[in-house]
Amino acid sequence: MITTALIVAAGRGQRMGDTDAGPKQYRTLCDRAVLAHTVSKFQRLPHITDIQVVIHADDSELYREALGDTANDLPPPVTGGATRQASVMAGLTAIAARASPPDRVLIHDAARPFVTAEEIEAVVNAISPGVGAISAIEVVDTLKRAGPDKTEPTILETVSRAGLWRALTPQGFQLDDILSAHRRAARSGQSFTDDASIAEYAGLRVRLVAGDPANTKLTVARDMDEARIRQSANMTTSATPQAWPDVRTGTGFDVHRFAEGDAVWLCGVSVPHSKRLDGHSDADVGLHALTDAILGAIGDGDIGQHFPPSDPQWKGARSDQFLIDAARRVRALGGVISNVDVTLLCEAPKIGPHREAMRVEIGRIIDVDVARVGVKATTTERLGFTGREEGIAAMASATVILPPATSLPR
Ligand code: MG
Repeated sequence: MITTALIVAAGRGQRMGDTDAGPKQYRTLCDRAVLAHTVSKFQRLPHITDIQVVIHADDSELYREALGDTANDLPPPVTGGATRQASVMAGLTAIAARASPPDRVLIHDAARPFVTAEEIEAVVNAISPGVGAISAIEVVDTLKRAGPDKTEPTILETVSRAGLWRALTPQGFQLDDILSAHRRAARSGQSFTDDASIAEYAGLRVRLVAGDPANTKLTVARDMDEARIRQSANMTTSATPQAWPDVRTGTGFDVHRFAEGDAVWLCGVSVPHSKRLDGHSDADVGLHALTDAILGAIGDGDIGQHFPPSDPQWKGARSDQFLIDAARRVRALGGVISNVDVTLLCEAPKIGPHREAMRVEIGRIIDVDVARVGVKATTTERLGFTGREEGIAAMASATVILPPATSLPR
């Protein structure tokens, strides 16, 4: 059974605006053209034998550029017509003229790069002789029909959404079914906006297969912006590292010795103890380690460089301002702090009763959800300086996500 994916890429994309930027299917979505993303979704699927793209007569160059080496794996593109309907008809006619024409065809819009393998498989499996299948989504919003005034539209009536679905692509058919339907539609001179309408017109049954809400059609400029954000979030499986979100980790370590006192500052919380921690600032060993972890993630020096102990203005300072500054440096790069984790090493005081307060405080200082903040403690089995209760050590790590290709401070 041969199944061809017929990808319709002949449109001019007038609703996208900025016509100088060219048709939307050739615009860049992170690392490559929209069309290249769409084609890739149909490659290496067990249900799809080959991919045939239909392009506009003017776009041969754009097509080669968009697909690069992938174009060598595909049959030469078919030239479309003046309307989508005519372009599909041209594609169907071309594949039907092959030495071994496909049994089934899946017609898909090039401007739907987020189609999923599950949808494609479900549509293919629902096709049978005389029965087509399309990816579609049940309408959940209340529908309004507007009156004739287009500049200030008002509601004429509410339309029942019962039984209504939005038609997406892919739309799949037996090739001979849909080709004869298209021929009939062409002879009638009527125009249709999708292939399922043509199938209905020709009396075919068409099944509705629940589609993926992510399978949107890039139509207006804002769709392209949203698509770029979604694509960069999906990039972990893609091939071009320059377009991946730039995920970085940093580590920090700090030690402060005990001195006479009655409380220690740890992770922004004052914990009653028989000693205090000695240092130039409030000696919050946890926040110092964490500040260095965040600075390390963005390669921006360390706490001592930005807040020198030799500078009297930091004497007795609360350490939250060091951490606030580190978080600010991340945001200045357009980044976000994904998570932080602190480990305190001490025999005493007991950290457990204060752990939640510490997580909340760190989350507040760096403006990150508490679920993204870890605070843990361990003893060192009475070994070493922490075991002898001469001081407290802290380790920390931070994960920071920067936009693709951020240039970091040197
Ligand atoms: Mg320190």
